[in-house]
Amino acid sequence: MSLYDMDIERAIKVIKKRNAKNVGLQFPEGLKTQGVAIARILEKETEANIIISGDPCFGACDVSDNKMKDIVDLIIHYAHTPLPIKYNVPVLFIESYSKVDVQKSLAEALDLLNDYSKIALATTTQHLHLLDEIKDYLEDNGKEIVLGSSKSTRKGQILGCNFSSIKNLDCEAYLFVGSGNFHPLGIHLFTKSPVIVADPYTGESRDISEFADKILRIRFARITKAKEVKKWGVLISSKEGQHRLELAKEIKKSLEDEGMEAFLIMVDNINPDILLPYMDLEGFIVTACPRIAIDDSQMYKKPLITPQELEIVLNKRSWENYQLDEIIFHEKDKI
Ligand code: SF4
Repeated sequence: MSLYDMDIERAIKVIKKRNAKNVGLQFPEGLKTQGVAIARILEKETEANIIISGDPCFGACDVSDNKMKDIVDLIIHYAHTPLPIKYNVPVLFIESYSKVDVQKSLAEALDLLNDYSKIALATTTQHLHLLDEIKDYLEDNGKEIVLGSSKSTRKGQILGCNFSSIKNLDCEAYLFVGSGNFHPLGIHLFTKSPVIVADPYTGESRDISEFADKILRIRFARITKAKEVKKWGVLISSKEGQHRLELAKEIKKSLEDEGMEAFLIMVDNINPDILLPYMDLEGFIVTACPRIAIDDSQMYKKPLITPQELEIVLNKRSWENYQLDEIIFHEKDKI
């Protein structure tokens, strides 16, 4: 049984309503195991041919619309909130809310939040439906709760690498409900505030500060090494939602202005093997997904840094003002 609400009824309804003949199915890595079971049901209940996208998928920034545009008349994309970008095929986003109970991790989090009374809550799409319940629980336990919002997210939501909802809030600490370290790390770095993580999947809670210190030490070492680099590759993603050509061009120019060489390289999935042929280049700047430099850092032998980290290398930003990279879309262009 899935730990997520996959809302198959809705998928069936939309396929029938659109009379879709060929339908692409896309899942993030953690839900790919559901792919065959869902395709089986959709093929039984509708007339459509179902084509599962087998490529890696990490966010709504990475919809297979360009790859599938001549093949399917509808894509069903699971688990992510749509970004305000124009997709080349109609896309049905099914957000897949988690069915995992948050109570155990919340009870642990309360202990870690003992010293703070005004708490800002943040979570990702999977747990957004539980925000009211979490807020009630914390209020019943004497906490004052703040929920941030922004034009490009829902209340309390961190959307991929868009942290706009958690900035400039009047609170003493943050409670992040969800798994992984990237989002709580981002909250901590953007706000410089204590961040407690309640992880519903492990049932445990933790303070992110130790992990943040470790990452900052790694990033400092990479930035120090990057100061020796004179020949750069500036990586641009071919994924629509990660594509920042203008930023890449600005970066190339600023490096050339400093007397260095820089080459633009467009890549779909960035990984160490794909960069191996560029033996002439000594380091890379990633304008694609901000997580690549942070999460996968240990996999790369040469410095691989974010645009904000390059600013530190070029003395345009101080180390004390270290920030994660963000990709934020503002224009609403729904299909
Ligand atoms: S670019 Fe942002 S939204 Fe897309 S996978 Fe990376 S972190 Fe997530």
